[in-house]
Amino acid sequence: MAKFSANTPRRVAVIGAGWAGCAAAVELARHGISVSLIEASRNLGGRARGVSVNGLELDNGQHILLGAYSSCLQLMRKLDIDTGTALLKLPLQMVYPDNEDGMRFIAPRLPAPLHLLFALWTAKGLQRGDKMALARFSTTARWMGWQLHQDCSVSELLERFEQTPRLCRLMWHPLCIAALNTPPERASAQVFLNVLRDSLGARRAASDMLLPRTDLSAILPARAAAFVTQHGGQTLLASAVSSLHHTENGQWQLNTRQNASVDTAPPLYDGVIIATDVATAERLLQTLASPPPSLPDYSYEAITTCYLQYAATVRLRRAMLALLDDAGQKKWGQYVFDRGQLHQDQAGLLAVVISASNQACELAQEELAKDVASQLAESLQMPELAKPLWHKCISEKRATFSCTPGLVRPENRTDLPGLYLAGDYTKGDYPATLEGAVRSGIAASQCVLAGFKQTSK
Ligand SMILES: Cc1cc2nc3c(=O)[nH]c(=O)nc-3n(C[C@H](O)[C@H](O)[C@H](O)COP(=O)(O)OP(=O)(O)OC[C@H]3O[C@@H](n4cnc5c(N)ncnc54)[C@H](O)[C@@H]3O)c2cc1C
Repeated sequence: MAKFSANTPRRVAVIGAGWAGCAAAVELARHGISVSLIEASRNLGGRARGVSVNGLELDNGQHILLGAYSSCLQLMRKLDIDTGTALLKLPLQMVYPDNEDGMRFIAPRLPAPLHLLFALWTAKGLQRGDKMALARFSTTARWMGWQLHQDCSVSELLERFEQTPRLCRLMWHPLCIAALNTPPERASAQVFLNVLRDSLGARRAASDMLLPRTDLSAILPARAAAFVTQHGGQTLLASAVSSLHHTENGQWQLNTRQNASVDTAPPLYDGVIIATDVATAERLLQTLASPPPSLPDYSYEAITTCYLQYAATVRLRRAMLALLDDAGQKKWGQYVFDRGQLHQDQAGLLAVVISASNQACELAQEELAKDVASQLAESLQMPELAKPLWHKCISEKRATFSCTPGLVRPENRTDLPGLYLAGDYTKGDYPATLEGAVRSGIAASQCVLAGFKQTSK
């Protein structure tokens, strides 16, 4: 890497303005680095971004954050985002519609672990055996320090902890799919335990569920880009980086499709963070004269969100309800969100989420929306829900990597000086989530800063 004096202004390129890239860019800008945040698409936010549908500002997929997402929440505070306004805070809950054979579990605002004990004591729809099994899970996991000697699938873990079929069906399976976007039979028990440790196993506020009230691009990436500009950097949209070049004096040159057509030489950077999806990261690394070792081959899980608009008078009992899914009966939906309770302009709009939706997203939009509307009408006993005014189903086929047992994920550092990786797929405790992405972005920026410190000695 090039040598710097303490007052040399440093330039760093962050490729990709998803939540990982935005976190990295803000952290670097805060430390006086001149940052270029370079994004291929015309929008900020990557897989967590706002989209306009029928004049409404929605998201590419309904997202949930947890109180345990400490890095996301800290980053928001650094950007002066009022989390109380931006996010609807709900206590930990798993509530099914009244007439379904489901359960009702709501943690009250009591100090931990009383909130869980009280929720368990008052839970409806669970038998004594189910409650005992849930208590056993919690005490055994705590006793083990939430750590397994060897990773296994979530299904195996639930069997080992003697969880009842009803508890698995109503609580563990939906929680696993929501947290890891991977079905329990293929999902990593260790990563599941990590999420439970930081939410159920921590202080009460960590188990809160946080629903974004405004669109995901506006909530954080737009503020991050503005912060970068205010701190002397720049954000370039519609600028896909096509290759990287490591110069003889240890700096970095990036080629974008835009600068390929211009005569001027591409700018030089003292460091680069590749914060794209893993497939693009691998492609960019392969453009180097001496590429580092290949990144692991990931498999992916889809997520589908069906937005269904009804009359503005339609309102659910809660902002969020769990649904009993059953692919065999074309009941695809796992959770329904009443967007009218999140945003005043969205009265009557319901968002139904289908995680690990590889099967459902093969259906035509029309057919899927019809299935989902019928499921809502039946589950909520509201026949009017069978016929929405309009609908829009958005499927992200590569929403997240499959979070399987023992998956080896790459470090932020590469073998090349000044070149780092960030993204929800890099090494860390968390599955592919906003928190995983933000933590990775911050870790990558800390590597850059540590590298600069070393070279200026
Ligand atoms: C539908 C859906 C629902 C989800 N629900 C939840 C949830 O409820 N809770 C939760 O925590 N997480 C959820 N996730 C996961 C979460 O959105 C992701 O983990 C997170 O957004 C990943 O961020 P990232 O920055 O690592 O990657 P990305 O968001 O993929 O960012 C990569 C960026 O790089 C850009 N890029 C790619 N190639 C180039 C190039 N050549 N040059 C420049 N830029 C490039 C892309 O356009 C993109 O903006 C969900 C994801 C989806 C898709």
